Amino acid sequence: MSVAPPPTTAFSDRFARELPEMAVPWQGTEVPDPRLLVLDEDLAAELGLDPSWLRGPEGLQLLVGRAVPEGATPVAQAYAGHQFGSFVPRLGDGRALLVGELTDARGRLRDLHLKGSGRTPFSRGGDGLAAVGPMLREHLVSRAVHALGIPTTRSLAVVATGATVQREVPLPGAVLARTAASHLRVGSVQYARATGDADLLRRVADHAIARHHPAAADAEHPHLALFEAVVAAQAELVARWMLVGFVHGVLNTDNTTLSGETIDYGPCAFLDAYDPATVYSSIDHGGRYAYGNQPVAVQWNLARLAEALLPLFADDEEEAVRLAVGVLDGFGARYGTAWSAGARTKLGLREDVDLATAGTLAADLFELLRAAGADLTGSFRALGPAARGDESALRLLVPDAAALDGWLERWRALGPDAAVAERANPVYVPRNHLVEEALDAATAGDLGPFERLLDVVSSPFTERPGLERYAQPAPAGAGPHITFCGT
Ligand code: AMP
Ligand code: MG
Repeated sequence: MSVAPPPTTAFSDRFARELPEMAVPWQGTEVPDPRLLVLDEDLAAELGLDPSWLRGPEGLQLLVGRAVPEGATPVAQAYAGHQFGSFVPRLGDGRALLVGELTDARGRLRDLHLKGSGRTPFSRGGDGLAAVGPMLREHLVSRAVHALGIPTTRSLAVVATGATVQREVPLPGAVLARTAASHLRVGSVQYARATGDADLLRRVADHAIARHHPAAADAEHPHLALFEAVVAAQAELVARWMLVGFVHGVLNTDNTTLSGETIDYGPCAFLDAYDPATVYSSIDHGGRYAYGNQPVAVQWNLARLAEALLPLFADDEEEAVRLAVGVLDGFGARYGTAWSAGARTKLGLREDVDLATAGTLAADLFELLRAAGADLTGSFRALGPAARGDESALRLLVPDAAALDGWLERWRALGPDAAVAERANPVYVPRNHLVEEALDAATAGDLGPFERLLDVVSSPFTERPGLERYAQPAPAGAGPHITFCGT
């Protein structure tokens, strides 16, 4: 089935045309009873997609991968990946499709991609499907991450399929439609490298330069400059996660983008009490992707990217390794700078406070929070009132008065500005107990709690009366939270 694209929108099939070796033309599986659960109307408008058209029968068929818009060639993308440290040369879209690319209102090319659209040649043993709960979770958490100003893929819509998905228990099925700067991952480059096709490797790298890091094309070593740009973007991204307490949960190389956007919201969560050792994912037994390990995990993934790109850096392998290591070694400094700059703003300090001073002061506060088991989001938010002279909320969360007094004295000496702090520290993040409550209700057919929570986390920095419950820490005795991949 083919549909006319909505009036203002033109699709392209650039990935499919430029990298056919990594694109298997495919379409979504039939959907018995598609029903729209949620649509990001602002995002639809940015993409030039008319929300009322998307809600109609043709729009729904597009959102589940049954209708092919003019100009598009939907494909399952091939990629490889290190999963928990072990290399799998052929992963790919086992339950997903790249519909095509769209130009958004700012003139940027965006992928439109579906998840849960049925089996593909990459499905291995899987059923190619997704359940309502995990897809709504991706919609909600990616919306929150976007609202926090952190680069991310974005969910356009979730459509219930009317089919049942068999997991531990039977669950209602869904397809998620998301947009991304692209779906190129470290694993995409690893796939190209593993084929042994030098020309394919070069074309993947050039495609990434054109789409994400065009300035690299003019560098003396364009592919090394590409690597450097990815290192910079990822260092910046993981620093942003760390500052807000985001735990991705499954940082395999196929879940690390070349664009620097957050991708693949599986067993992700936001920290409640601050503890770097926190692991939420039910499958992460060794704590490889614990909150505090995320910078190291991302740098490890970037080392795998360097290995895959090596033949493009220099003909002589030793020289290529030397160049790669030179760039990779810069990750720590880039991460440190991004973290300290972000932390300085969270403390409400202006740019004339030097980064080393701000970074040390912030690190000392994080340590106070760890020792107290204090709620991360609430504690940083309490800095605004504290800067205005009301320390009560902060003192409630960090009961060690002597330690806090010493810290507050150093902080006050730097002249913190409450408004600066409040612009940087959210009141509302998708807290685990609220997410669970909303997804349980949605799975049982009641979307009310989900819609309310979505609205709350879409404006995270502005305190609104009546939403006190959404700013409260997890109830005592809630027990450690566990997230599931939901595959
Ligand atoms: P993810 O955990 O979503 O990053 O997926 C890792 C790999 O497993 C990717 O190749 C997915 O396409 C594949 N995969 C995950 N769930 C399924 C499923 N239900 N059916 C087929 N493939 C899947
Ligand atoms: Mg993935």
